[in-house]
Amino acid sequence: MSNEVVRAHLIAGGFPAGQAAGHDHDYARLRILEHLKERDYVHTSLSGDYEDIEKWLPQCKLLITYVAGPVATDEQHEVLRQWVEGGGRWLALHGSSGGKAARRPNSSQREMVKMDYHNTLGGFFIHHPPIRKFQVSLVDTKHPLTQGLPETFETIDEPYMVELQAPEDTDVLLTADWGVVPPSEQGFYYKEDTAVLPGGSKRAIAFERKLSQGAVAYTTLGHCHTPTTNSQRTVHESVSPDHKPPLNLRGSWETEGFQTLLRNGISWALGEI
Ligand SMILES: [Zn+2]
Repeated sequence: MSNEVVRAHLIAGGFPAGQAAGHDHDYARLRILEHLKERDYVHTSLSGDYEDIEKWLPQCKLLITYVAGPVATDEQHEVLRQWVEGGGRWLALHGSSGGKAARRPNSSQREMVKMDYHNTLGGFFIHHPPIRKFQVSLVDTKHPLTQGLPETFETIDEPYMVELQAPEDTDVLLTADWGVVPPSEQGFYYKEDTAVLPGGSKRAIAFERKLSQGAVAYTTLGHCHTPTTNSQRTVHESVSPDHKPPLNLRGSWETEGFQTLLRNGISWALGEI
């Protein structure tokens, strides 16, 4: 192996700056750094949002994001897009498919705002029902990102509804099926459940999308919170019969499936697999 240093940039944080926004970013950041540190030649820089992305990305081979609220503005997105198209690999986790929500006129509900950023990511978060237990199923067994994953694994996580932005160019790797979720007056507004895959009620839990010389891999999994970062008011009965949210939750992070996916994601981004 050569002594060449490879740079990675990790963005982990909530919005507004410094806020947890319902997530234990410190835990997620630490676990991601542990994975990166398995290779001495990978040197990592850190940010809490996309504000200074132009400073770090040009020298990086790999970008990992774990955010709850921060999103790349159109200007920052240009930097991100060009970097990916030029050969960068972006491993995006959990809340990276979210961003800004706008209040609906004459309504107490808010609706997620789709930006160019979501087009590049290839996914747009529309809503999630309460945290629940569900099965994750392996779809693409040949893909480098799914090597070593079991055919199915169970997890407890936020059941994210993420609409694919370029389904024709997207390789769906993992799916889950908890049914179509009709709009309700709880949570975010959306007109219909556009996050299910064609012809059924399965939805993408992880996917890869190639963009010119580079690529994006995203997984909806990865919710975690502690008593001081929790913002969940209720959970599905599969987690607590009384619907009370657990004060500490690390869900997918404690599954071998998610850890394998994360490890594969880093190997994929570094071009090792
Ligand atoms: Zn979450």
